[in-house]
Amino acid sequence: MKALLYKDWELLELADLPCPEPQAGEALIRVEACGICGSEIECFLKRLPRRRPPLVLGHEFCGRVERVGAGVTTLRPGDAVIANSVVPCRACPACRRGDTNLCPERRLFGMHRPGACAEYVAAPASVLYQRPKGMDPVLGALVEPAANGVHAARLLPHLEKRSVFVFGAGVIGLMCAQAARALCGARVAVADVSAERLAIARELGAERTVNARQEDAAKAGLDFAGEDGVDYVIDAVGSAATKAQALAMLRPGGGACWIGLHEDAMTLATYGITLPQKTVIGSYAATEEEFLLAAQLLAEGRMRPGAGVRRFPLAEAVAAFHRLARPQGADLKAVVIP
Ligand SMILES: [Zn+2]
Ligand SMILES: [Zn+2]
Repeated sequence: MKALLYKDWELLELADLPCPEPQAGEALIRVEACGICGSEIECFLKRLPRRRPPLVLGHEFCGRVERVGAGVTTLRPGDAVIANSVVPCRACPACRRGDTNLCPERRLFGMHRPGACAEYVAAPASVLYQRPKGMDPVLGALVEPAANGVHAARLLPHLEKRSVFVFGAGVIGLMCAQAARALCGARVAVADVSAERLAIARELGAERTVNARQEDAAKAGLDFAGEDGVDYVIDAVGSAATKAQALAMLRPGGGACWIGLHEDAMTLATYGITLPQKTVIGSYAATEEEFLLAAQLLAEGRMRPGAGVRRFPLAEAVAAFHRLARPQGADLKAVVIP
């Protein structure tokens, strides 16, 4: 079968690989759509050790069951399925609490096990769910990033989120913004450096957009929220600058959610968190419940992919990857159609 292979550092190619065999408890999926994730592009460009070649990439996917391995009774050949990207161990304390996204033994497609940017992938039946009726495969591949948005919007459930400010109008930022509207009834502002992406944000329901090249985002956030600041800021960029701006625009008692991974180390004036009693929380992936909620919100049109999602045949997967590594205009995401 053909697959997008991260063959060596800085080397991607369309490879011919043997078709995987489904093990006990697994199903072999004929992939219908697989998104290329920003985190994969980041790992490739920065040679991050989180993803070590050789590796078939891809964790945002959906497809049809081709056949099932021993012991699988919940799926049948031909079933249209969506797939969670995280395979939890289901035995550790985090899994037993329901925090399957935080399982220290978790295995990701395209990281710890072969990814799905290929004609076929083997996946544990436990992470596969029936695709909502009539859902287009491209939308099916976007359930995983949508679930990231649902998770970020649902954190700090006791915080009243009337105003939400989102940094980054990439797919994750736009999913966070839409989830905050759909689940919290929040007014939402979105900041980015691309006018084209901000136009998509407005089309997806952002009440205010901020071009961070032209405006001071922290000031814009205070102006947007009125009163004493923003209730909740979701930073889907994750640079030192956006993290500091997020804290600066929060109201006393407000919360900042860090989901973007752009920069790791930074220095921070911590009294600005302690004295106004602000909360900083990280966000990683989504629980299984949130994955299903995201599928439902997408199926109902309450969350949408937006313009800027580009389709590419598998034969053009390498070019698609490089194009999204240097996105132009409204390029948001490449979805590969094997
Ligand atoms: Zn991803
Ligand atoms: Zn676990």
